[in-house]
Amino acid sequence: MADKLILDGQVVSNDVKQKLKNRITKLADAGVTPCLATILVGDDPSSETYVRMKGNACEKLGIISKRIHLDKDTTTEQLLETIQSLNEDQAVHGILLQHPVPNQIDERKAFETIAIEKDVDGVTSIGYGQTAFGFGVYPSCTPAAIMQIIDYFDIDIEGKHAVVVGRSPILGKPVSALLLNRNATVTTCHSYTENLNQHLKQADIVVAAVGKPNFIKGSSLKEGAVVLDAGYNKGNIGDVEYESCYEKASAITPVPGGVGPVTISMLLKHTVDAAERTITI
Ligand code: NAP
Repeated sequence: MADKLILDGQVVSNDVKQKLKNRITKLADAGVTPCLATILVGDDPSSETYVRMKGNACEKLGIISKRIHLDKDTTTEQLLETIQSLNEDQAVHGILLQHPVPNQIDERKAFETIAIEKDVDGVTSIGYGQTAFGFGVYPSCTPAAIMQIIDYFDIDIEGKHAVVVGRSPILGKPVSALLLNRNATVTTCHSYTENLNQHLKQADIVVAAVGKPNFIKGSSLKEGAVVLDAGYNKGNIGDVEYESCYEKASAITPVPGGVGPVTISMLLKHTVDAAERTITI
């Protein structure tokens, strides 16, 4: 059997962060410190953890983390005002609204209020449209992470059949667009897809973005497929059943330690990109 490649996200993440260090130093020489503003609404413990992880990752690298924590009863209007003030704050380069927000808030309206040049998490419809057209500046971070892993490990995608399972606006749809733009032949599957296993059997590359633990089994895969598992479910479990898929795959991301750490690095990278653009445009 050919060597199995474990697509170690920590290695990719460290590489991305290492390259950012020089750029942050150069920005400092120009009097600019990149700044990511995170907005957390309410007190969902997982969201609090995610925001803390992102903020800590910023600070470790010398990026300012401006953390805004709003009450769980915040209205859409109040949230929009907060986002507007961050849009206008020249010291802020990127804005991340932690999702999900409490039910009373119009989440889409809130995302759409983020200025496109600060949409480092790729949540606006303009950002998505630009990504789909192939000139997006900041694709959503998890799709960007998947592409970063593919490039770091030099995985050939041109002309290959990629099957993406999931079509959410932050993950399945944009990663399908990114793969298509890089000349993969893409099938995007969802909860209405008939004969999912038949699609998976055709796949040279499988992207799992379903949100269901151990959903994709090795028996559904073609021998030698490349498996990228974006899933992150309770108990550190991916959307891919690792043991059985490992047997069939030629390359596979672990969970944890696969797509997750690279996603955070892409957020840092996009924030640095956004800071650089304020002095180059
Ligand atoms: P989501 O919004 O819930 O979307 C799930 C998608 O899976 C939907 O498009 C849904 O189809 C599809 N689906 C559900 N059941 C299916 C089935 N039986 N067969 C085929 N497709 C099915 O989830 P998400 O936000 O994209 O997240 C997906 C996973 O990625 C989750 O595990 C999440 O935790 C993880 N995630 C990880 C990161 C990271 O940094 N690693 C970041 C974001 C998300 P319909 O559209 O038809 O409903």
